[in-house]
Amino acid sequence: MNQALFLNSVLQEKIWGGDHLKAYGYDLPSDKVGEYWAISAHPHGVSTIANGEFKGMTLDKLYAEHRELFGDSEETVFPLLTKILDANDWLSVQVHPDNAYGAKHEGELGKTECWYIISAEPGAEIVYGHTAKSRQELAQMIEDGNWDDLLTKVPVKAGQFYHVPSGTMHAVGAGIVILETQQSSDTTYRVYDFDRRDKEGNLRELHIQQSIDVLTIPGDKLPDNKVVTEKFEGADLSTLVKSEFFDVFKWVINGSHDFTKNAIYTLVSVLEGEGELEIEGQSVKIKKGNHFILPSTVENWRISGHLEMIASNPTK
Ligand code: ZN
Repeated sequence: MNQALFLNSVLQEKIWGGDHLKAYGYDLPSDKVGEYWAISAHPHGVSTIANGEFKGMTLDKLYAEHRELFGDSEETVFPLLTKILDANDWLSVQVHPDNAYGAKHEGELGKTECWYIISAEPGAEIVYGHTAKSRQELAQMIEDGNWDDLLTKVPVKAGQFYHVPSGTMHAVGAGIVILETQQSSDTTYRVYDFDRRDKEGNLRELHIQQSIDVLTIPGDKLPDNKVVTEKFEGADLSTLVKSEFFDVFKWVINGSHDFTKNAIYTLVSVLEGEGELEIEGQSVKIKKGNHFILPSTVENWRISGHLEMIASNPTK
């Protein structure tokens, strides 16, 4: 197995979604598409292998039956999930549990996530952290609906990166498209949903007690994340984060670059441009909107062209 595993994946409609994901070549069923679960083995939207000897197999099945492609990892489920999100409106203000709370209460992983901001309209903001200094103060401010004082809003622009550990109060704001790398979990505790109603007139469920349980105190304890960029002849390679669950990189290719495997296996998303991926003398075209996995059996690869990509790997 000396090929990349390309994927066909699932679009998710959301009340806050839009139609920006058309630009990636995806066939949108409506103008309310919020998420493309680009690399996923999660049962709520699993990817299917698009090429080679495993074409048509779902990623969860491939992971279960061919663990040699994934470095014989002892992780029982494929641990990461890559999404592109189109926030045409604010997502709910939310928080995710850590692995211990997720296992105990939800029967799945916790969720640490991170965001590469692909685009942001002028004035676009996120919620990142909160101002409460104690759990009691947090509960009181939530009960009072004192959102203006509680939620920390941060203006964002394209090219920025945010690391969002489990326990962080967060929301992606209107007018933002992001590439999200996260643990493979779909557990979200909604703190506040702007009192919005869906087309049937229903409010979405909130999870106030779970949120108060898992939110980090104090709420301004956020990671001090520094991006480091290495410049090569045909490539700028940036390390966006190295964390407990994943490492995430940005690869900008203008020309060509030879890569050597330095992780158990690697997930890659092409955000801009086109070019070629060459493995052992075999070339395939890659372009904006493609997502693929370089299995652990691939030791070396070359990428040529003019491309912007986000790559990630699990840490075990
Ligand atoms: Zn989230």
